[in-house]
Amino acid sequence: MLDETLVAAIRERYLSVQARIATAARAVGREPGSVQLVVVTKSQPLPVLQAALAAGVHVFGENYPEEAVTKIQDLGAENKVEWHMIGHVQSRKARLVAEHFALLHSLDSLKLARRLDRFSAETGRRLPVLLEFNVGGEESKFGWPARDVARWADLLPEIDQLLGLAHLDVRGVMTMPPFFTDAELSRPYFRRLRQLRDYLSVQFPQAAWQELSMGTSVDFQVAVQEGATLVRVGQAIVGPRPA
Ligand SMILES: *Cc1c(COP(=O)(O)O)cnc(C)c1O
Repeated sequence: MLDETLVAAIRERYLSVQARIATAARAVGREPGSVQLVVVTKSQPLPVLQAALAAGVHVFGENYPEEAVTKIQDLGAENKVEWHMIGHVQSRKARLVAEHFALLHSLDSLKLARRLDRFSAETGRRLPVLLEFNVGGEESKFGWPARDVARWADLLPEIDQLLGLAHLDVRGVMTMPPFFTDAELSRPYFRRLRQLRDYLSVQFPQAAWQELSMGTSVDFQVAVQEGATLVRVGQAIVGPRPA
């Protein structure tokens, strides 16, 4: 049974986040339609996803491949839903990602890239991916180290190899900056990611680099002002994650 109270609450918050994205985009002269809203449902039980679907959500972001694949199967193939993987993927979970997701935001090593390339070849597809960078330099975060602009050139040999993998389609970059409750404090990190994207697009014009995945519940408006094309918003739409 669908929880109609939950559907109404999610719909209201979903529309409100969309409206705030549009306002932030227009404020910097961007088209609101140039920003895709990914609704993050990691750790949320199936009824929350069913309610979100009924509320009009059609792009879901998940962090754990096995949990996500169970949800994909439970929601059923008849629903027109796009699934994005946004969390760290262990190499041994690469097959699940290659088979079930429309976009991987969090590609963070050449080793994982090689495995994804192999499984994508077996599946007969070219997997869209974003490269994750650690622009804040925190030990706890995944992604290629990118805090120090002077060392960006060190990243180029690995990225060059990665771009040679025929079954991966590199579309841009992603980051998860340090957590702040004041969104303005995220701005320099978002700006750094955009500058890194611009740098990579000059170094490697053969890839598209158009996607910038950045911004969560606390700071998505700042991310949009700084050029985000994908924002990953969970709690502000579906409510707090269960403990
Ligand atoms: C959980 C998560 C989000 C969403 O965070 P909220 O606070 O729920 O908006 C976004 N990106 C990543 C990588 C996450 O793990």
